Amino acid sequence: MATPRITILGAGFAGLELSTLLSEALGDQVQVTLIDQSDAFVFGFSKLDVMFGRSTLDAVRMPYSRFAKPGVRLLRESIHAIDPETRCVTTDAGTHDCDYLVVALGADYDIAATPGLESANEFYTVAGANRLRGILPGFSKGHAVIGVCGAPYKCPPAPSECALMLHDLLASRGVREQCEITLVLPLSSPVPPSPETSRALMGAFAERGIRFMANRRVSSVDAQRGVATLDDGTELAWDLFLGVPKHRAPAVVQAAGMAAEDGWVPVNPRTLETRFPKVYAAGDIANTGTPKAGVFAEGAAKAVASALIARIRGEGEPSLYAGAGTCYIEFGAGRIGRVDVDFFSGPKPTGTYHAPDVASRVHKEHFGASRRARWFGL
Ligand SMILES: Cc1cc2nc3c(=O)[nH]c(=O)nc-3n(C[C@H](O)[C@H](O)[C@H](O)COP(=O)(O)OP(=O)(O)OC[C@H]3O[C@@H](n4cnc5c(N)ncnc54)[C@H](O)[C@@H]3O)c2cc1C
Repeated sequence: MATPRITILGAGFAGLELSTLLSEALGDQVQVTLIDQSDAFVFGFSKLDVMFGRSTLDAVRMPYSRFAKPGVRLLRESIHAIDPETRCVTTDAGTHDCDYLVVALGADYDIAATPGLESANEFYTVAGANRLRGILPGFSKGHAVIGVCGAPYKCPPAPSECALMLHDLLASRGVREQCEITLVLPLSSPVPPSPETSRALMGAFAERGIRFMANRRVSSVDAQRGVATLDDGTELAWDLFLGVPKHRAPAVVQAAGMAAEDGWVPVNPRTLETRFPKVYAAGDIANTGTPKAGVFAEGAAKAVASALIARIRGEGEPSLYAGAGTCYIEFGAGRIGRVDVDFFSGPKPTGTYHAPDVASRVHKEHFGASRRARWFGL
């Protein structure tokens, strides 16, 4: 029998975990091709560390050259077209046919959807976060607006963490009194599935004099005038704008006809199967009803791995995507809380809050270090 070929598009949280699990279970019994256009992986939360000067870009980059797993080849290529019917992928270097295709290309940013954003700052790309690292030390007076331009967006607590970390930075420089901080979110609360977590965050904002505007998104930015306009017409004058761009599926996925009207790839939320036979979608690109976060992308990858392993071995029941995970939340002053969210067990999503403590800091450090070691041997 010919060796089954699996092509995985995107070496992010989902692609890295999926190819690692396939390698561990099947080794050379499969040919896994993992394709990514970047030369390194960076955790989402490391962008905040870089931006606030807690780490450097060099320290947080995990080069793909360090990813070596039996049965897996990682190609640095840019994906230009996907044919989900024939499972053929075209890249800048050629074409790849396969027996099973997994699309894990993450969420892209639609900067153009928010007029003026291209001339302001955003902290959701590695480049944007790194640029802000040089800009934040020069902000000592005036109004900082942290503004989200659309939902859904990755890691719902991240803009709240940004506000609390900015407060800390300004306080440590002795300039907090001269600065205002406003956080604009297109959600009803900072972490909607967990009212307790939201209350804790809103309490932290109130204690620190951070203004929180819920149910609003930034619809345009005027960098020359220093004004952000919200979707209800409110204008906020700013001296520092820290934006979260509107998210969308990568253009190549939209062009493939895989995305629905809402922009994301429809899947069976428990199996991650798309409507195309032997084609799966996992991570931020897939519409599962769970948050766009690394821990959820990894959970989805586990379910896809289990399905592929069962299909290839011709035995065993695949495990389903659990839709549950732990999100760590920086509360500032080095304190980390966490929320265990569960989207599928009950009639509606739930979140169990754990107030900041030493254990959560240790857990978060372990979360990063264990993936770094598992995927990159670093
Ligand atoms: C500021 C911030 C903080 C965050 N904090 C957390 C956190 O604390 N915890 C958490 O769990 N999550 C967090 N996240 C979210 C997390 O980073 C993402 O949800 C996660 O990376 C999604 O994984 P993925 O595999 O779906 O996509 P990604 O990790 O985004 O991977 C997609 C890959 O596809 C590649 N790609 C895309 N298009 C192409 C193409 N055309 N050709 C070739 N390659 C392509 C990209 O280069 C990328 O490597 C945070 C995100 C941000 C921005």
